[in-house]
Amino acid sequence: MKISIVGSGYVGIVTGIGFTELGNEVIFIDTDKAKINAINNQEPPIYEKGLEELMMKNRDKYYATDDYSEAIDKSDITFICVATPSNENGSINLAYIKSAAKEIGKTLKNKSDFHVIVVKSTVVPRTTEEVVKPLIENESRKKAFEDFGLAMNPEFLREGNAIEDFFSPDRIVLGVKDDRTKSIFEELYVQFSCPKLITDIKTAEMIKYASNAFLATKISFANEIGNICKKLGINAYEVFKGVGLDHRINPAFFRAGIGFGGSCFPKDVKALIAKAEEVGENPKIMRAVVEVNDRQPLKMLELLKKHIPNLKGKRIGILGLAFKPDTDDIRESRAIPIVERLIEEGAKIIAYDPKAMDNFRKLFPQIEYTSSAENVLNADAVLVVTEWDEFEELDYTEKVVIDGRMIERARKAAIYEGVCW
Ligand code: NAD
Repeated sequence: MKISIVGSGYVGIVTGIGFTELGNEVIFIDTDKAKINAINNQEPPIYEKGLEELMMKNRDKYYATDDYSEAIDKSDITFICVATPSNENGSINLAYIKSAAKEIGKTLKNKSDFHVIVVKSTVVPRTTEEVVKPLIENESRKKAFEDFGLAMNPEFLREGNAIEDFFSPDRIVLGVKDDRTKSIFEELYVQFSCPKLITDIKTAEMIKYASNAFLATKISFANEIGNICKKLGINAYEVFKGVGLDHRINPAFFRAGIGFGGSCFPKDVKALIAKAEEVGENPKIMRAVVEVNDRQPLKMLELLKKHIPNLKGKRIGILGLAFKPDTDDIRESRAIPIVERLIEEGAKIIAYDPKAMDNFRKLFPQIEYTSSAENVLNADAVLVVTEWDEFEELDYTEKVVIDGRMIERARKAAIYEGVCW
């Protein structure tokens, strides 16, 4: 099939390159010239394991442009993969979605073939039908579900495992209304053997939010239990090993520590809270999930100050800046509030991350960055913020370590504090 992808960030590039590997042709549309140039030079616009190799292998099957009309004319189906960040009050910001929908609509006006538009970005329920659809209809003077197809296909990939998740998803959810779009989709996803759930459009939108809200809840729950464990001298990891063995519960997402970050959970939980309030609901559980998560990284500072009460002028090492290992993404990383607080307290920070230092430097140019994890250990205390595998190789003996992510080797430190163990 001929596919165009609007927005070539973490989701767009992985989805598009994944589709080329399955034999499709893909045109990426982006407004960011640097990303377009990178893609056209077969360079990944973001760091994701295995992406570069797939981009090289399939280099004849894709290119990138900022020209919507060329991309949409030359494709049969368009995925919208632009960002959906938060507004100040936590509600979803649909500015990128709206501008993409308008541009698509303008181009569709002059296209006679049936074209399918799929919203893959995470959008609160009813956005596809109440925001995207009217914008495309107005600009194109065509009718959705008759003159063009419109669907919602939420994305569940995990950064750091995104390529694997593209090829082996747990499920594919497709929110559709018209049969023509449904059959085009069945053809596009024919090579996938996972369960495929066909729903109406707003249900597909809600499945994404309910999934993320539940996973975020599991993490905040593990952290709340973990905080109690810490006070009682119990290791939360052993507790959750026991809990997770119950088949009704499942062991995933019980890694107690300093909370969740990233481009999805924080903003999606907040967006669902805002949507709930808009329709007159009071989402108490989700509010508590956010509150626990906001508090959790600061537990590291509490533990640090137990050993170094006055941080002024002290050299504090930070291991890990990305919101999780195997990515360069620092959006909502727990490292951000930790570094902010350390700066406020007058500490001197030396930080290392294998992939995320360039991104972090844009936010915090004033701290010191170093090219190796060992250098970070030459500090008055070390905080482990991201669980990169290489941090398991370090020699922590003689050091003061506050561990937010349960690095086994770090437990050998002279002074060691785990956040929830
Ligand atoms: P991103 O910020 O990495 O990428 C978005 C891209 O869209 C950028 O390259 C940007 O330049 C481009 N863009 C913005 N406006 C545009 C326009 N009008 N036309 C063309 N391009 C435009 O975002 P992301 O992390 O890939 O997330 C995209 C969506 O997918 C979000 O809704 C997010 O919630 C959802 N999602 C993300 C993940 C994840 O792990 N990152 C997982 C599942 C779902």
